[in-house]
Amino acid sequence: MTDILSVRDLTVRFFTYYGVVHAVNGVSFSVLPEETLGIVGESGSGKSVTALSIMGLVEKPGYVTGGSIQLGERSLLKLSAKEWLDVRGREITMCFQNPMRALNPLMKIGYQLMRIHQAHQSSSKHDAARRAVALLKQVNIADAEQLMDRYPHQLSGGMSQRVMVVMALICGPRLLILDEPTTGLDVTVQQQLLNLLRELRTSTSASQMIITHDLGVVANICDRVVVMYGGRVMETAPVEVLYGSPKHPYTTALLQAIPQVDAKTDLTPIPGSVPEPLNMPTGCPFHPRCAHAMPRCSEVVPALVPLAERHEVACHLLTKGDDHVNFD
Ligand code: SF4
Repeated sequence: MTDILSVRDLTVRFFTYYGVVHAVNGVSFSVLPEETLGIVGESGSGKSVTALSIMGLVEKPGYVTGGSIQLGERSLLKLSAKEWLDVRGREITMCFQNPMRALNPLMKIGYQLMRIHQAHQSSSKHDAARRAVALLKQVNIADAEQLMDRYPHQLSGGMSQRVMVVMALICGPRLLILDEPTTGLDVTVQQQLLNLLRELRTSTSASQMIITHDLGVVANICDRVVVMYGGRVMETAPVEVLYGSPKHPYTTALLQAIPQVDAKTDLTPIPGSVPEPLNMPTGCPFHPRCAHAMPRCSEVVPALVPLAERHEVACHLLTKGDDHVNFD
């Protein structure tokens, strides 16, 4: 199967007054057609900056300083500003964190939705309105016609998130990126949104990339996961492999830190804290917190090593010749 999106050795730097922030450091992954890919990591792991790079939205003092991003035949890092207008919003779209901030508070919902359709599809006002109402109904908004006439402040959090999803889907993109889509929603609305995203993947055929720090969301909806830390990919695997047999010490530690309703033992927190972006550790970025760290770990960055189909791990333990490492 051909990848829809292929990110290779992506490097992003922010040149600040205080020094150079190494936000993304040689990240590689791909998204398959009709796949839901989860990008997981703690704050500061580089997942949102990676998404912004894919959207061509990294702003000064940030720069993509290396690598490639391929969307089908298009090389995104080589697009001109004019070409981006054709790709962004039509072929790739993104739902940003906090929909209430992403919607324009001064414009009615209908106007905001229709403008995008008219801009990208050169459609009439009537056709754009029809498409917007149809999609609002598809995301289970019963009074879609009335909602077109409301302002963002008149919507609940769950409703705003659905409007953002409609906004992202209105031009039929190939790839939909969602940044922390469930943050701030209560658990029942969260579950409704995840069910909706699952349905939309089937009905629209758009691939989805979900950025989250919530491993529960990933288990619920994703086919495959990329685990990031310190601006690097630590492990990538199909969901059932990652949860059933994680190979990277960081993935294992993350899973051990999830609260279990029926757990009889205490949670195991990961010692220490995420590295300072201005002061990234040398070698493996996880080495100051890793229980398995060896002298080599602080000197050499481990390469991503394929273990099985679509399962890759970046850890020196796996290059010692034993691919069945027991991290217990
Ligand atoms: Fe731990 Fe070393 Fe593996 Fe990094 S490379 S996760 S420090 S064992």
